[in-house]
Amino acid sequence: MSIAGFQFDNSYARELEGFYVPWKGAEVPAPRMVRFNRALAEEMGLDGTALDSDAGAAIFAGHEAPEGAEPLAMAYAGHQFGGFSPQLGDGRALLLGEVIDRQGRRRDIHLKGSGRTPFSRGGDGKAVLGPVLREYVIGEAMHALGVPTTRALAAVATGEEIMRQDGPAPGAVLARVASSHLRVGTFQFFAARGETERLAQLADYAISRHYPELAGRPDRYLGLLKAVRDRQAALIAQWMNLGFVHGVMNTDNMTISGETIDYGPCAFIDGYDPAMVFSSIDSHGRYAYGNQPKIAQWNLARLAETLLDLINPDDSDDAVRQAGDIINGFPLAYERAWLSGMRAKLGLTREEADDMDLAVGLLAVLETQNADFTRVFRSLGQAATGEVAPARALFANPAGFDVWLALWQARLAREEMPAEKRVAAMNRVNPVYIPRNHMVEAALGAAISGDLAPFERLVEVLADPFTERKGLEVFALGAPTDFGPYTTYCGT
Ligand code: AMP
Ligand code: MG
Repeated sequence: MSIAGFQFDNSYARELEGFYVPWKGAEVPAPRMVRFNRALAEEMGLDGTALDSDAGAAIFAGHEAPEGAEPLAMAYAGHQFGGFSPQLGDGRALLLGEVIDRQGRRRDIHLKGSGRTPFSRGGDGKAVLGPVLREYVIGEAMHALGVPTTRALAAVATGEEIMRQDGPAPGAVLARVASSHLRVGTFQFFAARGETERLAQLADYAISRHYPELAGRPDRYLGLLKAVRDRQAALIAQWMNLGFVHGVMNTDNMTISGETIDYGPCAFIDGYDPAMVFSSIDSHGRYAYGNQPKIAQWNLARLAETLLDLINPDDSDDAVRQAGDIINGFPLAYERAWLSGMRAKLGLTREEADDMDLAVGLLAVLETQNADFTRVFRSLGQAATGEVAPARALFANPAGFDVWLALWQARLAREEMPAEKRVAAMNRVNPVYIPRNHMVEAALGAAISGDLAPFERLVEVLADPFTERKGLEVFALGAPTDFGPYTTYCGT
């Protein structure tokens, strides 16, 4: 089938034999395009018009492989909630192939929900419409918010009914795009089997794909660990500065590229609370909002363990010492990235020693009042011009906020940026519109009952999260008081 000009160049299939199982998607009764990301398709050099069709739906359901695709299920392992599973792998997903996009970037096209594979264990290999659309809308929102992430290319309904905990649900497949699907868990798979040669091959592949500046260097494996650490530190800092809770930061859900991956039980906080947990299965709060930096470091330590033999094959104490230094450097790398993000959120361009205290001070006030994280930061733009009433109104008792305001205003007085420019800069990092839990739920509920309009609208609003627009006020509000505690499900 030669529809739509796929120009595959499948480096993973070609260079990493033994790291995957060649596989095919399951046939499904009635593949139908639910939502197609034409802009992304075109960015990737694909024919958007030809693919936004039944033929495109058949491809992205995994029902039919386009010419040049070499679909395969990737092997990986992973620590899930702290416990190690030596074999996970693509149990309901396939790497369809790689294409080089218009800017010369290599990108995976990957299907999630395309049927059973040799890695399925007890699972049915399927995905259902709600979680597929959830990953679509939240992933695209993250992209628009400037966060490195996998992207949604297409959501396809399969025409099947899939049995899930709450009864039958419409089957669906998500086609997503990533700069790669290499995970910490991919390294763990081969490390757990003691396959050092394969690990070196994998590490060199990861380096050539994501950190080419390290290629050929004798200290490249340590360099890889440091580079992944820094990208993850920057990524988690962005999550934290936006109030994003990933929800299932298992090592198989942490990429080597530094992109956010696997939007399962994720959610954005409304009121500020470091202990916030949404996922139904995270009963101990391991992946709570405020724990994410610590968990990222823990995951990176697991990556480090897999690289020890490569870092120094002759002296394991030395390898541990070197890798340990990198991992111990995570908190500082994270803190720098976080503070730099916070300075931008607070309208600060200069660096002063007390900026950390100032940022933390605001969070402390937010926490005691459970004030809406996103709205308070957005309102600071106005507050920076002296219009403080909208910000104050977000606190049940603004006394603590008033104290902080005075400190912040004194700090702003030492800035040189003209006020107007400052507000514009703040508004480019403090979003008005985020995927609010109640809006996402309403959109998904309507979509499952056949009305896609609210979903389409939400995707459209979130594509431009920083520009306040008339008529969209409802999208900027926090959860209604009757929304209650929000619980998310993995949706497998
Ligand atoms: P996830 O929670 O989506 O990150 O998946 C964790 C592991 O479980 C991966 O190996 C998945 O491929 C596998 N998995 C999740 N859902 C299913 C399913 N419905 N059928 C088979 N494998 C699954
Ligand atoms: Mg996963």
